[in-house]
Amino acid sequence: MVRTLLGHPRRTARTGPGVHAAVRIPGRGPGPLGENDRMSRRKPAPRRRTPAPAPAVTAGSPCPCGLDASYGACCGRFHAGTGATAPTAELLMRSRYSAFVVGDAAYLLRTWAPEARPATLDLDPGTRWTGLEIRATTDGTAFHQRGTVTFRAGYVQDGEPGVLDEHSRFVRHDGAWVYVDGDFPED
Ligand SMILES: [Zn+2]
Repeated sequence: MVRTLLGHPRRTARTGPGVHAAVRIPGRGPGPLGENDRMSRRKPAPRRRTPAPAPAVTAGSPCPCGLDASYGACCGRFHAGTGATAPTAELLMRSRYSAFVVGDAAYLLRTWAPEARPATLDLDPGTRWTGLEIRATTDGTAFHQRGTVTFRAGYVQDGEPGVLDEHSRFVRHDGAWVYVDGDFPED
């Protein structure tokens, strides 16, 4: 059973009915509760297990991958699909992490090795990614055809913080880096 996050498709059990994926923007008219919702705004918000949604990432936002650059100048230029591709396995890894943050499933699929790529990918709206730390890399530069990236990614899922450790493998496909699969050191 595939079981992970950045590499493999997430299990989709949480994405069915019962998951509160809708984001209500405060001050924009009645929410899902109608008139009662207006009243509820005058009181402290009830405690919920669903985490507050992360602020929207824009081109000028700090890139979610953690590099000292704006999203538009960093991972966003790869997500845009206008021809720029990540020049190293590490930058591909970072851009895939950022794709999880911004919910770009199409980018995740097109940067997956064809032989390992799932047919579809459902991103869990109950998971919010909170940070990426690259811990080690091997090869994966302009001079290589293969590479690995070991990273730790933080997340909050349904209000519970967690970390994902993964050792990921990447290869070149038609010249561009793609993700193959990963090992999970804590297993
Ligand atoms: Zn980035």
